[in-house]
Amino acid sequence: MGKEQNPHIKIPRLFYDSLTNLPFTKCQVCEKDLVATNSEYMIEKVYHRNPVSGKMEIMFEYAICFQCALMFVNSYSAKSKENLQRYFTDHMQHHLTSAPHKIISTEEDIYDQLATCAITGKHVTELDEYQIVGRFKGDFIQTDEIPFMIGSGSMDEVSDLLSNETIDSMDDFTGKYLTGPPEFRDFFKSPRRRPVFI
Ligand SMILES: [Zn+2]
Repeated sequence: MGKEQNPHIKIPRLFYDSLTNLPFTKCQVCEKDLVATNSEYMIEKVYHRNPVSGKMEIMFEYAICFQCALMFVNSYSAKSKENLQRYFTDHMQHHLTSAPHKIISTEEDIYDQLATCAITGKHVTELDEYQIVGRFKGDFIQTDEIPFMIGSGSMDEVSDLLSNETIDSMDDFTGKYLTGPPEFRDFFKSPRRRPVFI
């Protein structure tokens, strides 16, 4: 048997909805049932170290289907898209290609992959805030598009690349769809806005 290129790996627990301890079921935007429709979607989670307990906590998390994510990304200005593209090509590709042996074939590989920042290579234990992003289809994680983690320093760099028009459109998105507790919404406000990665 040869090497399996795209093994089917069930959604790792790390990407479960932290409120239910079960996989996400709905797109945050259109509320489509992601598993029943076997949709392609992405999950983003942001973790932050609680300054009192010192423990990492989830600041926010959501699942968004590809159609909705695309609609959102298409609302970014041309300038922002170009900046993001260049940033990821310069930084992330370099890091990923410098470790070409990474083949994701088990859930363990995914946890390994998510243990270091895709931009700086910093280990998760050195970070006080970071974000993980994965792509999924129905019940499974997509392993051809490798899930990644980025630390807060790099997240801020990425936010700095966004144009004012894009920031306005992100504010609209936040106002419409991300109606969590105030600290959750503040997360997106200047100067800590976060783009949706796709
Ligand atoms: Zn959707």
